[in-house]
Amino acid sequence: MEEFIKQISDDLIYVSHSIIDGVYHIRVKSKEEYKICPRCGEKSTTVHTKYIRKINDLPIGDKKVILELETYKLKCKNNNCATKVFSSRYSYIGSNCYKTKRLEDKILEVSTNLSSVKASKFLGENIANVCKSSICNMIKKNQSDNQ
Ligand SMILES: [Zn+2]
Repeated sequence: MEEFIKQISDDLIYVSHSIIDGVYHIRVKSKEEYKICPRCGEKSTTVHTKYIRKINDLPIGDKKVILELETYKLKCKNNNCATKVFSSRYSYIGSNCYKTKRLEDKILEVSTNLSSVKASKFLGENIANVCKSSICNMIKKNQSDNQ
């Protein structure tokens, strides 16, 4: 399990896991000790709130995976900054925050050759639950990023 987590990112630490209704729920946390305010670039270690972010990832064998990332909202201590509280960001999590980057890549790969309805069905049976509209949005975003 630790190997699987390492493949997502060296930044992640495995905490625990359980299998609920045939789905792996893997609790992980970040090694990073501080975060950088996205507006002013100041380092912050001051935790505002702690919460769990659920992120879909690639399956292990025939079981789907949901990462439960222990994450934080932090306070920006720079008095001149308009951002008071910001969420931690992670390079390995996709732009919509509910999927890992590598899962997004897989979804795009599958969707290249299938309609979004078929892709959604295939992904739901084999990889992760992804709704049709979310696939459409990802394809659109990917196309605009590549232009
Ligand atoms: Zn700031």
